[in-house]
Amino acid sequence: MDRENFVPFECPLCLTLMRDAKDVFTFLSSGCCYECKEGYLVPHGIKDSRELSEDNEVKNSLRNKRKQLPSYILR
Ligand SMILES: [Zn+2]
Repeated sequence: MDRENFVPFECPLCLTLMRDAKDVFTFLSSGCCYECKEGYLVPHGIKDSRELSEDNEVKNSLRNKRKQLPSYILR
């Protein structure tokens, strides 16, 4: 397996399951799912989710935000 192209089953920021190729491509470029990138990284001028890997407050808020979306199946 090529570690460079490793994609987890869920976004490391919001812990939502990766859904489609858009999420996968966004993960490979930015380290998180498409929704996190568009909803947080881009507005805050962050290029890579790893820049906020230590920021648990941000992660918690993203996770709570995603939990409120009924279209997601959480297990
Ligand atoms: Zn995410």
